[in-house]
Amino acid sequence: MGSTRQGAVVRFVSAPMGHSIDVRLDALTSAFPCAAGAPATKTIAGCASGQTFYIETFGCQMNVHDSEKVAGVLLGRGYRQVETPEAAHLVFYNTCSIREKAAQKVFSRLGQFKAGQDAGKLIGVLGCVAQQEGEQIFERAPWVSLVCGSASYRKLPELLAELEGGNRRVTGLETDTDETFETEMTRRDHPFRAYLTIIEGCDKACAYCVVPYTRGPERSRPSPSVLEEVRQLADAGYSEVQLLGQTVNSYRDPSPRRMSFAELLLAVAGVAGIRRVRFTTSHPRDFHAEIVEAIDAVPALCDHVHLPVQSGSSRVLRAMQRTYTREEYLEKIALIRAARRPVSVTTDIIVGFPGETEEDFEETLSLLDLAQYDGAFSFKFSPRPNTPALALADPIPEEEKGRRLAILQERQRRIQTTRNETLIGQAFEVLVDGQSRKEGQWAGRTSSNRVLNFTSSRESLLGNYIQVRVTRAGPNSLVGEHVI
Ligand code: SAM
Ligand code: SF4
Repeated sequence: MGSTRQGAVVRFVSAPMGHSIDVRLDALTSAFPCAAGAPATKTIAGCASGQTFYIETFGCQMNVHDSEKVAGVLLGRGYRQVETPEAAHLVFYNTCSIREKAAQKVFSRLGQFKAGQDAGKLIGVLGCVAQQEGEQIFERAPWVSLVCGSASYRKLPELLAELEGGNRRVTGLETDTDETFETEMTRRDHPFRAYLTIIEGCDKACAYCVVPYTRGPERSRPSPSVLEEVRQLADAGYSEVQLLGQTVNSYRDPSPRRMSFAELLLAVAGVAGIRRVRFTTSHPRDFHAEIVEAIDAVPALCDHVHLPVQSGSSRVLRAMQRTYTREEYLEKIALIRAARRPVSVTTDIIVGFPGETEEDFEETLSLLDLAQYDGAFSFKFSPRPNTPALALADPIPEEEKGRRLAILQERQRRIQTTRNETLIGQAFEVLVDGQSRKEGQWAGRTSSNRVLNFTSSRESLLGNYIQVRVTRAGPNSLVGEHVI
């Protein structure tokens, strides 16, 4: 997910969910007087230095939330957030290296920077590219001052102090930590929905994936600390929380309460003021009936599960080291489909993994038909440094990967269109989270995480939960009208 700022409206582009919403800037900044441009001399969370920062985020929701926490650390130190790198003393890029294209983006940003660089500007590279490339970044872009991977964010205040003290080269690149990145202050970028990381890192070893290398080992956050933050969020007016983790359902409570993931979901949903709880991403191996039972029991647990399959072929899944077979995965889907209320299921798929035959690919297509996903994020396999798949023989040519991706996306598009068309005529509760420039046009999200654009004669709907009847359906979103 990333966000781009356009005039007085902030557009959130969400990936893996792949949709965008517009939110008025004043709605976002009003909760943060410092960020809203309060004079630097007024004492708001120590806003006295007059120094400014800009942060751009690439990649997943976890990166987006990490950036919110980094922004919180900076605001707490007296920095003020600005909207362009040109206006900033401190420029941070929070990077993603999951696929090669994503990793290249940051170097293209850094390249642009060189040309218009102001003397005295400090540039920092955070996140997965920082972890992956380490100090080599200083060689490729000597104007960079800070390189810090996500497993070292706890050290960020110290690293910032070093920068403020005049040190021009600081790094935080350790991954052997059991600490999670919690901050006293988080600058949240969405007015109604709050992200909350409950587990960091990853202990799985998928053959294609850089995450265990760039984010370090799994570290779960103690349940009392999670629940305390959820209570604070509810008090601050947030009604929806999204629990985050690369394998969120592998959560293991390190506190004496030893809550299971499903128990934690129920406890979060039980916090007064919280109307919706989401969680992403679930790993199929750790997805159990207890989670579906929790969703069944409590309407605040949203009817949506993101359960990446990656391939429909057991042979490829084994080569990917995914730790489940096609059949075992389909059993998890059956558990979800047997829930008492319809629960939407979305997935991630990689095509063109080394050695993937035409038959393997056909198995992925047939799995789409069986699973009937409500959404799928599909990617061409991208060989990544430090991953076991890099050494695998029989690479699939780029052109063939492209062909398979196009076929798969077309098949899935048809499935989504058909599934969404069955919703025409039904009314759903949506959280209104965007307003279109067109008069009377609003955007909301259903509990199943579908985008529902609708018309209403009412004003000031942002942040409200209202009923909307679906009148039209496309593969990626629904259109409807407010039921008054
Ligand atoms: N932790 C999640 C899981 O286990 O499914 C997802 C992590 S990753 C940020 C999001 C998605 O990127 C993965 O589900 C996978 O489909 C895709 N991905 C990861 N590595 C990739 C690679 N080397 N090439 C192509 N796609 C990749
Ligand atoms: Fe990567 Fe696999 Fe961990 Fe997901 S479970 S983050 S795909 S290694």
